Amino acid sequence: VNPRLNMSPRIYRSPYPDIDIESVDLVSYLFSNPFNTPLDRPLYIDATSGKQYTYGDVLQRTRSLAHGLQQTFALRPDDVVALFSPNTIEYPIVCHSIVGSGAIVAPTSAALTALELNAQLKTSRARFLIVHTSLLGTAQKAAKGTVVEKIILLDGPSLVNGQPTCEYLASTSPSAPLREIAPAAAPNKTVFICFSSGTSGPSKGVVTTHQNMTSNLQQWRAHMLESGQMSQRVDRNTTIAFLPFSHIYGLNLYMCQCLLWGTTVVMLPRFDLDQYLGCVEKYRPGELALVPPIALMIVKDPRVSKYDLRSVKRIMSAAAPLTNELSAALEAKFKELYQTQVFCTQSWGLTETSPMATAVPNDRMDKRESGVGCITHNMEFRFVDPETMTDAATKSDGSTEPAEIWCRGPNVTRGYYNNEDATKGAFHTEPDGTRWFRTGDIGVIDKDGFIAIQDRIKEMIKYKGLQVIPSELEGKLVDHPDIADAGVVGMWVDEMATELPVAFVVLSRQAKSREAKDVINGIHAWLNPKVANHKRLRGGIHVLNQIPKSPSGKILRRQLKDLLKSKRPKS
Ligand code: AMP
Repeated sequence: VNPRLNMSPRIYRSPYPDIDIESVDLVSYLFSNPFNTPLDRPLYIDATSGKQYTYGDVLQRTRSLAHGLQQTFALRPDDVVALFSPNTIEYPIVCHSIVGSGAIVAPTSAALTALELNAQLKTSRARFLIVHTSLLGTAQKAAKGTVVEKIILLDGPSLVNGQPTCEYLASTSPSAPLREIAPAAAPNKTVFICFSSGTSGPSKGVVTTHQNMTSNLQQWRAHMLESGQMSQRVDRNTTIAFLPFSHIYGLNLYMCQCLLWGTTVVMLPRFDLDQYLGCVEKYRPGELALVPPIALMIVKDPRVSKYDLRSVKRIMSAAAPLTNELSAALEAKFKELYQTQVFCTQSWGLTETSPMATAVPNDRMDKRESGVGCITHNMEFRFVDPETMTDAATKSDGSTEPAEIWCRGPNVTRGYYNNEDATKGAFHTEPDGTRWFRTGDIGVIDKDGFIAIQDRIKEMIKYKGLQVIPSELEGKLVDHPDIADAGVVGMWVDEMATELPVAFVVLSRQAKSREAKDVINGIHAWLNPKVANHKRLRGGIHVLNQIPKSPSGKILRRQLKDLLKSKRPKS
């Protein structure tokens, strides 16, 4: 009998012993400099211009900007500040200075339309909106009808129309001490509101507390320590950053872990394969933090052989499924090019788990074929049949039947910002008041405690790692005069294209008299400017007579997915 397994309910724990997680706020933790990073070490480098900030610059600019925001704009503790910008070397400094003022950061994706940003500003009730100059027009439209009091420019070395930008304040303001939070307050004080679809419905603001974030940083660190990774700290000397800071993966890794570890972050404004590989050659990172579409490019694109990538020892993929075939092909590629052994590992988690919940340990590379590794320290999982709500049975080989993963631990969110209903729906509460977060992912755990993710029951589509929420698109589609009803699902293509959003529509009577092809083209042309680029219906639009629904009115997406197997998209 597995000593780490409780039978009733069946609770699975990490194979590693629990660690003493320090109750600490993000400011005290991030600036504690546990690895004695020297002040002159380059910390943030702009991959395009080469402009850089050293560790000392980051400390000084963060303190100055915190002072500037408090003095010039009267930023107060607990204010919510929305950030709307692509990745730049100013971005993390702005983020640290807001957190260091005791306020809350709501990072929003730079790909949002004004309408989408408006909804997120309303949810977060942001008092300030800090925006990159290139997105100012969208931000101004989005702020209408919200409680945003002031839009502040993120970039620009001098005053703009007499107004200071963040970059200007960071260079010119006197330095102020950062506001640390008492350890007792860390578990309940919000630090980030990141947007996610959760398990259903429209985009929701996930509440991440100081303690959630510092716990996950400690869990991540312990996970690497247990698997022999810490002794190879050289692997963490540099990272090439292309994942958006607005997503929890980028936020935790580039913004928090790298400051803690003193890792140099080379920042790309967006992903470009040549620029990325050029940076790997130039800055020689030991580890690549990837998502599966980039892994596939490295395997397939002939440009890869033009660059010297032999510094790479370890590849970590997260945010979407990395198949066994792809991780093996990636390792084979490095063997073929340099006769070196890289280790390709995978991590699984959600915005709601801040994010890392499982990872493949370096010393169990034999188990990487099983999927996403084992439960991290201090977390507990259950595998529950979502229909019967009972714990999944164990098969003769010791693994469970597929079931929804429930989890709890110090890194798990308390719920959704200003959204009681969504919070209630995402948790299962025991009679004794303890709560389990229902992840919406279906997985199995084997006898050794290694997990494979099989499917997700929630409706979110992931196009190249970016979330597309079916109900949001359905809501827009049925607004079109030619559409009577609509259902949206994801169509998995391959690791490169990932999952494409596909719509099934029932045409209105007026549209039925016209050529279906023209109507469909008209719908695409109408929808595209209304949604962020990644939400476009790249998988096509199909016409149906009826959208299949359950007696309670829920769209039966499984049936729509089955239909896709027999159909090819028409456009
Ligand atoms: P997000 O909140 O955007 O981080 O999305 C979380 C969701 O991404 C999870 O619920 C999973 O469905 C998916 N996901 C994240 N990592 C993995 C992984 N390694 N394998 C499969 N799915 C993943």
